[in-house]
Amino acid sequence: MPRFCDVSLPVPLDQAFTYSLPLTLQHRVQAGARVMVPFGTRKLTGVVLAVHDTRPEIAVKDALRLVDPEPVLDDELIALGRWISGYYCSPLGEVLRSMLPLASEIRAGKVYSLTDAGRDASRQLSIGAAEDDAFHKVMAMLAMRPLAAASIIRKVPLADKVLKSLERKGWIAVEHTQRERDPLRAPSAKLRIALSGAQSEGRFPKAERELLAYLSLHPGSHNLSEVEEQVHNASTAARSLARKKLVELAEEPMPLATMPPRAPHELNPAQRRAFDLIEAGIGSGKFCTFLIHGVTGSGKTEIYLNAIDAALAQGRSALLLVPEIALTPAMAGQFYARFGDRVAILHSAFTDAERAQQWRRIRAGGASVVVGTRSGVFAPVRNLGLIVVDEEHDGSYKQEENPRYNGRDVAIVRAQKANACVVLGSATPSLESRFNASQGKYTLLELPDRVAGRPMPKVHVIDMREEFLATRKHATFSRAMVEAIDGRLTNNEQVIVLLNRRGFSSHVACRSCGARVECVNCAVTLTYHRRDRRLLCHYCGYAEKVPSVCAKCGSEHVHFLGIGSERVEDELHDAFPTARIARLDRDTVTGKRQFEDILQNFRERNYDMLVGTQMIAKGHDIPNVTLVGIVSADVGLGMPDFRAAERTFQLLTQVAGRAGRGELPGEVYLQTLNPEHYAVQLAAQQDYHAFFEKELQFRRFMKYPPFSAMANILVRSPKQEDALRMSTELDHHLTPAPAEMKIMGPAEAPVPRLKAEFRYQLLIKSASRRELNALLKRAQEFARTRKWNATALVIDVDPLTLL
Ligand code: ADP
Ligand code: ZN
Ligand code: ZN
Repeated sequence: MPRFCDVSLPVPLDQAFTYSLPLTLQHRVQAGARVMVPFGTRKLTGVVLAVHDTRPEIAVKDALRLVDPEPVLDDELIALGRWISGYYCSPLGEVLRSMLPLASEIRAGKVYSLTDAGRDASRQLSIGAAEDDAFHKVMAMLAMRPLAAASIIRKVPLADKVLKSLERKGWIAVEHTQRERDPLRAPSAKLRIALSGAQSEGRFPKAERELLAYLSLHPGSHNLSEVEEQVHNASTAARSLARKKLVELAEEPMPLATMPPRAPHELNPAQRRAFDLIEAGIGSGKFCTFLIHGVTGSGKTEIYLNAIDAALAQGRSALLLVPEIALTPAMAGQFYARFGDRVAILHSAFTDAERAQQWRRIRAGGASVVVGTRSGVFAPVRNLGLIVVDEEHDGSYKQEENPRYNGRDVAIVRAQKANACVVLGSATPSLESRFNASQGKYTLLELPDRVAGRPMPKVHVIDMREEFLATRKHATFSRAMVEAIDGRLTNNEQVIVLLNRRGFSSHVACRSCGARVECVNCAVTLTYHRRDRRLLCHYCGYAEKVPSVCAKCGSEHVHFLGIGSERVEDELHDAFPTARIARLDRDTVTGKRQFEDILQNFRERNYDMLVGTQMIAKGHDIPNVTLVGIVSADVGLGMPDFRAAERTFQLLTQVAGRAGRGELPGEVYLQTLNPEHYAVQLAAQQDYHAFFEKELQFRRFMKYPPFSAMANILVRSPKQEDALRMSTELDHHLTPAPAEMKIMGPAEAPVPRLKAEFRYQLLIKSASRRELNALLKRAQEFARTRKWNATALVIDVDPLTLL
């Protein structure tokens, strides 16, 4: 019987930790299972990598308990985790944790208690009259017994600050705990109840007897809140019976999106050609990658659906990944309509508990089609045959926190390990993927036309400099755009208006001295949000009131400059007073299901116009939209980032592609100050191929990806001189770089200060991926030997943004 286990823990140390197994656990713990273990003052949950009998040289502690009865990760997923950990230079424990959507089942918390010093102090305090401030309240509460942070904060506003200061004084000690969430605490409406099948013996209170009687008369499972209407006190009785294991309480499965089932479209010849090749690929049982490059409205979804059918027909399962914002219940509904309850959806709009539940269902083999966002790539399906990555160019596939993986690339690695097929699809493939296809690494499947002979939208480019010369006015909308919108509204057709910047005014500046109002934590200007009447930092969330006078020179000439989506909405209301207008951006979509509400209402024509940021550009298929207005094509162009042109081209092409998807043809009005910029021009002509060639030339010349492997090393510190010194030392340690590798920097990051930390970066381009990886490992080793703070070094492999 193995007496030890090696556990990977979610801590920023790239090593496994060995624990001894108490007798009760020895026969139950296997690789891939989660165990709870002591770690310093904390209790942590980690994944068992191996069980063995090799006694470690140092004394080890006992593992505390097994978290799940069965392993949560199989060998295939652990191997994938190891690959991610190596490739993205991220500790395995953190990788494995982010592969599991089960964190919600365990509640992390802090428990505070008085130290001896604190106890002395508290006695002194209680001699004086009990004062009524936060400090005294907190001390009085803790004098009674140790308390969870949450319950202190609930009772005492501002307790946060008090706790911090008490900790500094050494009066209180904190213990980090993890507790499993009790399903019995969920509200009745979210629970299903059924008899457990166990024999009931002995006497029970009346309510419990009644409930048992009701359940035996009405077999099957019921929503607990519905039972409450029939049986007095059912809720309390149910929970008590559940503890006695006489009934089972389980969380209610999420509501299914309702969509009328629709007969599959007959594939047109281009779709058929693409599908036939994919079907053959799946049939071969070998790893292969396809890139579907199909213009907006060419019917890519129909190919995905057929490909999934083909995988299922082979007895294999399928994963479909979609961008964060595109996974709407409406889209999920399409899949339910087609595949019924074989589908599991891993949707960010679901609660953590709902996601955990879906995950367990997939793990148990209860779903063979999984639709999910980025982390859906880790869905524990069995016998994987196909992974589809829709809108493969989308930035939301890249996780911008540790581990900084790209879901699309992980999909390819996972498929390779599983001998499965990958289908990447986009109207605007990333340069990398399209380049791989042109090199023959991927099979290219092109759909150059929209379905049913529908035309591509006609794009009108409006030079806003000329507009100004002609009108002498700085208007948000050109005369041509206003006229076009007016025409569509008269025809009862719908309009989408894009401005990819939220807020009302993008910044506030003083006319006398030129000072701009900046965030206190970040080196960026604050954005004015009129509805909230405050200035907001889009990076850290810091907010302040609008100053009435300039903080620098005292002048009253404080002005709002630049325009955001909130103001666009406002001006549209002025220009079209009777139009029904909705806005979709991160400010209007605060609740999780609001996004779909707005979109659904727009789809049902309860709105005439939809205004928003890039959120409105992604994937939506709304047939009655015949006009797309782009207020400014220039928003992303000035970014200090080699991908700025690519991103602009993609966004403009995608939003233009929202027009004319139904029976009626579409038009686009694109306003710009840079009509000669190639990204703007070629997006207007919807000429992907010309853009690809031109951008590829630039990348080749500059040795940017796909002509090099790239990584960004960021060094952060609250003190500027520390950040500068550390990054310089690191640079010295890493140079001279191997041949065919270039280290640029250290330089201030494009956002030099973020969330109160100063940031310097080293940007690395390397001809060899292996050497790049070795260099990054050396950087990590350096940080470790120098005992840098765990968060000081950030390594981003294949970075998408360099902010
Ligand atoms: P894409 O994802 O390529 O932009 P979609 O898959 O959303 O395009 O398809 C666009 C529209 O065309 C959808 O409304 C879809 O139902 C319809 N469609 C797809 N394939 C066909 C077909 N073979 N015949 C007719 N309509 C189709
Ligand atoms: Zn001023
Ligand atoms: Zn900020």
